[in-house]
Amino acid sequence: MLVNGAVVAGKGASTAKGRSAEEFEQIRVILQGRFEDLDREYEEAVAQNTRLRLVEIGDAAGDDQADSGSKTAERDAATSLLRTLLDRRTQAEHALQRLDEGTYGNCEGCSNPIPVERLEVFPSATTCVHCKQVRERRAS
Ligand SMILES: [Zn+2]
Repeated sequence: MLVNGAVVAGKGASTAKGRSAEEFEQIRVILQGRFEDLDREYEEAVAQNTRLRLVEIGDAAGDDQADSGSKTAERDAATSLLRTLLDRRTQAEHALQRLDEGTYGNCEGCSNPIPVERLEVFPSATTCVHCKQVRERRAS
């Protein structure tokens, strides 16, 4: 019993859980790249949004009804894009933090390392494909 406990504790203390240093590095590169992409997209969207508002203020005087309606739609779209980009950027940021803490990339269901190929496609995945399917089957 004592021996088993020690083995489990030892396994839990290891952050790698069977993942190699190369894999960690590979994941870090993927996440960092994604974060930078999203950061750039977000900054561009912010700039775009600012321009939109400045234009709006600029020609607010001569607006007719239809014009201001399409501008509202444009502004709503821009705002929702900003929110989406910010969400994704935050996700990538958190994933990087979890990677540093050694808690990233392990399945919430079975605690095995999630394959790098899966993380590459879904960096915010928190379960392996198997556990995801089990969950989905339970949900339906
Ligand atoms: Zn799993």
